[in-house]
Amino acid sequence: MINVTKSYLPDLAEYTRLLEGVWERVHLTNNGPLVRRLEAEMRTYLGVQNLQFSTNGTIVIQLALKALNITKEVITTPFSYCATTNVLLWEGCTPVFADIRADDFCIDADLIEPLITENTEAILATHVYGNACRIEQIEALAQKYNLKVIYDGAHAFGAEYNGRAVLDYGDVSTCSFHATKVFHTVEGGCLIAHNSELAAKLQHYGTFGHHGDEYYSMGINAKNSEFHAAMGLCVLPKVDALIEARKTISEQYNSLLDFSRISRPVLSPGMTRYNYAYYPIVLSSEQALLNVVAALAPEGIVPRRYFYPSLNTLPFVKNAQSCPVSEDIASRVLSLPLYPGLAAADVETICQVVNEAILAEAV
Ligand SMILES: *Cc1c(COP(=O)(O)O)cnc(C)c1O
Repeated sequence: MINVTKSYLPDLAEYTRLLEGVWERVHLTNNGPLVRRLEAEMRTYLGVQNLQFSTNGTIVIQLALKALNITKEVITTPFSYCATTNVLLWEGCTPVFADIRADDFCIDADLIEPLITENTEAILATHVYGNACRIEQIEALAQKYNLKVIYDGAHAFGAEYNGRAVLDYGDVSTCSFHATKVFHTVEGGCLIAHNSELAAKLQHYGTFGHHGDEYYSMGINAKNSEFHAAMGLCVLPKVDALIEARKTISEQYNSLLDFSRISRPVLSPGMTRYNYAYYPIVLSSEQALLNVVAALAPEGIVPRRYFYPSLNTLPFVKNAQSCPVSEDIASRVLSLPLYPGLAAADVETICQVVNEAILAEAV
């Protein structure tokens, strides 16, 4: 069976060597030495200052909303994983959906300004498939209207925009280190804050809001463990090679797929390094997508509708704006299998099946 993704596992002996240290120290969690080492190595790798390792890529967005004191309207993208919208609702904020660009599927910054009201407090945008949003335009709006900017950078580890980590923009950028992402710690995530004052606040909120017997704020538990940090320490030195392997497979897809009836999102202009987080294709219709999925199934190949559905259409989201571009793309976009180790012969098979299914649809 070939799934849309397959987690990378490092050398087991290397992982257990790190665990032997945990057994010696009996320090399992609560800002242990492996957590601190992973944070330091990630700061160096990404070239950022205020990075905190955390539990997952969802709670970090909630922490950002809390630390920035966002409680009202947040302009956000309908084209993301459901976590992006769920956290807004979970925090009692009102998501206000701005439609996406038809070329790169990130939030259309031209559509943000008309949605700003006196209750708008922030913009929460996703760097879709690791491709950066229109960062300058978003920053300019944030300045003009005094809004906070949070980027859901769950896909963006290792990607660079104008020579800087994509994760280094906004008031806060978040990332997910879930087992399926470009870089992973089994479960995990991080926060990157624009300044150290905000970083300290985020740290507080993520560790129950107290320091010893001094209680400051209504914090929560967003700490991660030595076991997860150990995985990160094994995977991080490999991440450049993993991105290279993703690139090779993506280029093989590029050369073998029939693009007469398939399109692909484009990279936004400022991208100086891409991480090949996903390989999405956009079919001509939802029916064409369902045909491709059905044609791949007997071969044991399982692509994923990602992102689907458009978040403004989630059943528990009330009074959402209509977002025709996002709804259209979400109905037709399919992520094909992409992971280091996926065999070239399997990519050939996938391309052959996809091309045939599309051709059959066309006649
Ligand atoms: C994976 C993902 C998340 C959630 O991250 P977890 O670590 O699984 O909680 C949030 N947003 C986007 C865009 C994602 O892809």
